[in-house]
Amino acid sequence: MDCIFCKIIKGEIPSKKVLENEKFLAFYDINPIAPVHVLIIPKEHFEKFDSTPSVLLAEMAEFIKEVAKELDINDYRLITNNGANAGQEVFHLHIHMVANPNGKLSWPKLA
Ligand code: AMP
Repeated sequence: MDCIFCKIIKGEIPSKKVLENEKFLAFYDINPIAPVHVLIIPKEHFEKFDSTPSVLLAEMAEFIKEVAKELDINDYRLITNNGANAGQEVFHLHIHMVANPNGKLSWPKLA
């Protein structure tokens, strides 16, 4: 069965898209933790950062830069939760892009 992000890619679950190409999709997080909170995912299903081929991650880095341009933001933070104990809830690789265009993002103490 498809995971929730595979369903978003197929259009079976709606999303607010930011940018898309043949390999990647960027869309707004449904539960934002910052004024800008976008998720960037590969269209091919990989469980997490660790199990994603590095060549694809390199291509994803280029796409992420395009997303920042599309959003017209220069300062942003990238996060990926790699595994359940790191906070991963959706097991389809995603990079969180968070930003505050009007100020500074806080740096929370996590443990
Ligand atoms: P993580 O905890 O790193 O696995 O992050 C999963 C993220 O996916 C969370 O920030 C959720 O708010 C987000 N999310 C879950 N379902 C959806 C959805 N249907 N559309 C957009 N974002 C979602």
